[in-house]
Amino acid sequence: MPADSTSQRELFEHRPQWDEDDVRRGTIATVVLPDGVDKPLDYLVPERLAADVEPGRRVLVPLGRANRERLAYCVAVRTGDLPQAPLKSVIGVEDPRPLLSRRMLELTKWMAERWMARWGEVLEAVLPAGVRARTRVRMDPLLAATGAAPARQPTPPQARVLAAAAAGPQTAAALAQASGASRAVISRLVKLGLLAETGAVERPRGRGEEGREKIRHDKPTALSPAQTAALEAIRHPMREARHETIVLFGVTGSGKTEVYLQAVEETIAYGRQAIVLVPEISLTPQTCDRFRARFGTVAVLHSHLTPAERHAQWREIAAGRVNVIVGARSAVFAPAPRLGLIVIDEEHENSFKQGTAPRYHARDVAEWIAREEKVPLVLGSATPSLETFARCLAGDWTMCRLAERVGGSQLPAVITVDLRDKTGRPRGAMTARLTAGIRWALDAGGQVMLLLNRRGFATHVQCGACGHTARCPQCDLALTLHQPGNRGICHGCGLVNRLPADCPECHAPGLVQRGTGTQRLEEQVRRGFPDAAVARMDTDTMRARGSHEKTLDAFRAKQIDILVGTQMIAKGLDFPSVMLVGVVNADAALHLADFRAAERTCQLVTQVAGRSGRGPLGGRVVVQTSTPDHPAIRAAAVHDYEAFVRSELPIREALLYPPFGHVIRFVVRSLDDQAAATWAGAIADRLRQAAGAAAGIRVLGPAPAPIARLRDRFRWHVQVHGPDGPALRDLVRRATADLKTPDTVAWIVDVDPVEML
Ligand code: ADP
Ligand code: ZN
Repeated sequence: MPADSTSQRELFEHRPQWDEDDVRRGTIATVVLPDGVDKPLDYLVPERLAADVEPGRRVLVPLGRANRERLAYCVAVRTGDLPQAPLKSVIGVEDPRPLLSRRMLELTKWMAERWMARWGEVLEAVLPAGVRARTRVRMDPLLAATGAAPARQPTPPQARVLAAAAAGPQTAAALAQASGASRAVISRLVKLGLLAETGAVERPRGRGEEGREKIRHDKPTALSPAQTAALEAIRHPMREARHETIVLFGVTGSGKTEVYLQAVEETIAYGRQAIVLVPEISLTPQTCDRFRARFGTVAVLHSHLTPAERHAQWREIAAGRVNVIVGARSAVFAPAPRLGLIVIDEEHENSFKQGTAPRYHARDVAEWIAREEKVPLVLGSATPSLETFARCLAGDWTMCRLAERVGGSQLPAVITVDLRDKTGRPRGAMTARLTAGIRWALDAGGQVMLLLNRRGFATHVQCGACGHTARCPQCDLALTLHQPGNRGICHGCGLVNRLPADCPECHAPGLVQRGTGTQRLEEQVRRGFPDAAVARMDTDTMRARGSHEKTLDAFRAKQIDILVGTQMIAKGLDFPSVMLVGVVNADAALHLADFRAAERTCQLVTQVAGRSGRGPLGGRVVVQTSTPDHPAIRAAAVHDYEAFVRSELPIREALLYPPFGHVIRFVVRSLDDQAAATWAGAIADRLRQAAGAAAGIRVLGPAPAPIARLRDRFRWHVQVHGPDGPALRDLVRRATADLKTPDTVAWIVDVDPVEML
């Protein structure tokens, strides 16, 4: 499916034409379908439904020649002159009350324009599945069994509804139709307790809260001067009931979370609610405990909630019964009626951008909401994104620096080891310096974290004679060797292959395992440090629900001495006994075909380095790299992220990359390589035509995507760059307006992509 190709604004304002002299009056509902049809459609609201049809509720409407019944979101209702051409009528109303406020309707419309998504798909995306589940009503079982008369005698339409409900659970709309009564009658019966809405709603339950040793984070007696200044910067707009975005640029351990906590406290004191967004990976009990310990009831919205649990949380929030909402990306849509503050921790994280349509970024959504609600938005990070830095430099946002760790603990000394220097040739993936560092930490009674951002045993398997590399038959990716079982797993599609003993190309015996993954590293660490307890944390070992917490708890309890892992271990964890952090290969992500590769590398190395030396014993960091002079590595080694920003911003500016320009990326997929290439070419041609002589527009491609084949689909991409976001989107709309996509290809549009694979 191509993304929306017409201006949403234009669509929203679309009105049917009619003759001036045939004017009747009536009520018209504008509805948006969740899928299929892009355009908002107008329907006549029949008299019996007039009280129930309102923006934010879903309605049933007939669609197409066959008048198939479809569920649609009512986005506007107006009473006035009717068009001459007859309108079809709304059939029924689904929801007893609006699922979306007017503000949410405005937000979703804005999002559809901003990320070139269909309004209907945005509406679906902001509502959790449990909330969207079709309401079913049934007779109250007690009443049915005993035939007892209710306290208040139902009026005739209510009696009809109850009679119809006896047929069993059904949707409210179906019930209204069967009984000929309005949805208001059903709502009243639900209120009277004569009908019950089903769809099991469980109490939200915490994850693995029992038996876990709680770390205490009592409110400190005094804030540091930097913390005080940051909190004051947040209080200012709060007191004046206005919006402002405040960026806390603070090294790990500088007390940013404490500032969030006290800002939330203040928000609650004003009788308001706060939304705190964290990356999914940081939604550990550790984070949640800190908020719970301070505030009691906290709604935690994480991806492991069942739809019913999420629905229950949603209702508590909407009813204003929870003051603090902590959650991943989509928690930004929590329906807080008294919103007073939004916080985004680790704001530089990619996971705040949704990878599927609508491809929104929670930071931009949060800014929109905070501006409309006139509340502060707080962004925090030790390594803010360059986009955020640029907004601060431009004077739009306020930056507060927290340059030092609280409590006087020092940032750890970082030792860079040049992997090109063969004198200390590593035994396995660890150089002599790294091995010595681990020994030093263990001897001092400290703990060790080793970061390697590649899972599996060997990253590829190659023939030593002809160089042939084993690849996934349906993707373009080298197979990663996983042990035990000598399995070649594709990290693109998950396909598992048995690896051949000999080279399938030249038949030379034996294949060579190249590139160390976390699994092999773990094995080497166990061999090198037989007395140490070693554990590994990556998506392979952390599949089961709760395993992440279990491993972290064991690490905290010092049942684990050395923790080996992917970037999972780099984020937001606070373990005072960690004395050594080793970055096994800092270059792993540096040379990807992505203009953000250097930024990501600097962020990752800085973040993981910050895990070391949080306790009184101090700590060290060993960074192994083949490019020790790269600005990203150099800056991370001296804990000077801002130095990297200063070196990187002029490069971005010269190339008109974000934050100085905007990017829209197209990815075309097809089973047929030629079809994908041709279609990507057609898109590029149209973009170039539409751009004409417009200044600063650059069309890159078509080119095979860095992952050129995935799950049997060939992938091509095209990028268009320009200085102005809205103008660039307009250009893309014009270029793709009447594009008729052949059945053999599919394509997507990603506005402001954060991922270029
Ligand atoms: P960050 O979020 O920047 O990593 P935290 O807020 O987690 O920093 O603070 C790091 C540690 O210091 C935590 O254990 C926290 O409880 C403690 N802490 C924070 N602020 C203070 C303070 N003003 N006085 C004493 N301890 C503090
Ligand atoms: Zn594959």
